Amino acid sequence: MHIRVNGRDNVAIIVDPEGFVSGKERIPQSHKIALRSLDAGEPILRYGETIGFANRRIEAGAWVREEVVDMPAAPPLDDLPLATAVPAPLAALDGYSFEGYRNADGSAGTRNILGLATTVQCVAPTVDFAVRRIKAELLPRFPNVDDVVAVTHSYGCGVAIDAPGAAIPIRTLKHISLHANLAGQPLLVSLGCEKLQPARLLGNALPMLGEANVIRLQDQRGFAETVAAIMEAAERRLGQLDRRRRETCPAADLVVGLQCGGSDAFSGVTCNPAVGYAADLLVRAGATVLFSEVTEVRDAVHLLTPRAATREVALALIREMRWYDDYLALGHADRSANTTPGNKRGGLVNIVEKALGSVAKAGSTALQAVASHGEKVVSKGLVFAATPASDFICGTQQLASMNLHVFTTGEGSPYGLSLVPVVKVSSRTALAEKWSDLIDIDAGRIATGQATIEEVGWELFRFILDVASGRKKTWAEHWGLGNALAPFNPGPVT
Ligand code: CA
Repeated sequence: MHIRVNGRDNVAIIVDPEGFVSGKERIPQSHKIALRSLDAGEPILRYGETIGFANRRIEAGAWVREEVVDMPAAPPLDDLPLATAVPAPLAALDGYSFEGYRNADGSAGTRNILGLATTVQCVAPTVDFAVRRIKAELLPRFPNVDDVVAVTHSYGCGVAIDAPGAAIPIRTLKHISLHANLAGQPLLVSLGCEKLQPARLLGNALPMLGEANVIRLQDQRGFAETVAAIMEAAERRLGQLDRRRRETCPAADLVVGLQCGGSDAFSGVTCNPAVGYAADLLVRAGATVLFSEVTEVRDAVHLLTPRAATREVALALIREMRWYDDYLALGHADRSANTTPGNKRGGLVNIVEKALGSVAKAGSTALQAVASHGEKVVSKGLVFAATPASDFICGTQQLASMNLHVFTTGEGSPYGLSLVPVVKVSSRTALAEKWSDLIDIDAGRIATGQATIEEVGWELFRFILDVASGRKKTWAEHWGLGNALAPFNPGPVT
């Protein structure tokens, strides 16, 4: 059994878990079979788009492996169609809500967490030490607080902090520090001599924290006194957070970040389209949906610029693609550096095929806005938030805006984040069965015909509302899986 996505396609994906015997070879599951003979130089079509060119004659029924496919050039950026096919708005979806924590700035939290933000990596082990004690000695007395999280990172000093690239990690960390799930009000731990001073990190938002909530280690007398000072501030803040209660918030208050990691050739026909359907439902309910990962959008940009709501939005998308082309060129790399050994094992021949499957997550609505690296998204609807495709860097950057995360995977990743629930959707049923205590939603049922894209999309949408409300936990939350924050720093280190 195989799946062809588009009527124009001349290749299809093998569905059988054991692979498919064709002539003398066995084509593995999720790899491609030629539906007809192809001459050398002929385009190979999947999703109705050219994913490459045959570099030799390929017989009908043969395995279309990476070696027989030459990668096409990326779509040129200078003559793309701008807002030429803006999708009409879909019918509004009224009456969907979740139980969230309303914040002073109007945002809504999906969790009620005490956050200990930091200006610099130097303080991280001290903060980790204090958080272990806070969780053991204080948190049990405050049952309405979900967790205590050290917002630690590798940035803050030893960097050219005035270089243009420094703006990216600084604003990323600012928005994470003021995260909706931290009630927008963290404690802040600083060393004292670091380049990223508290005022530089938080700007105008610093006075709002109050002096008692900013602890400067070099003002303290020894380690024990430092930890005591952090715990005293934490106890006071836990008391405030404990008085908060969930209240009904419209689904429009959700900011859902989408990402894929460890993709395979099924991702573009099962989990990513199901996530795309759920993205459309969220947009119809008034929510914000972020898709990201520049190198996984670059080869599909010609499909997205026509969908931009305005010419300005389309131009902003092109600006982000161009910035990243230049960034990769500086490192003597190009977009082909994206695909991993796991992607290739999963049947993806190159970044073009991966990108065409990846953008299915963005659903079908108009692209309303584009945010640059680490900027906080304020628009509603579908937004492109530029990030690298690296899972943990993308997730870190999306945390600047999102209050819930959806992560699709084919090869499998136990990835999670401490600040927001991460919902994991598998591309294949075999993965959902092998990792039944890590995968939340199995989209592989789409490949075997047991469920439709619409059914899995609705299931995911409802699960998102349950998780946002705290009625359900994701597996990553259940196990307490929180990857380290990894801010993207394109600027120089000194
Ligand atoms: Ca990724």
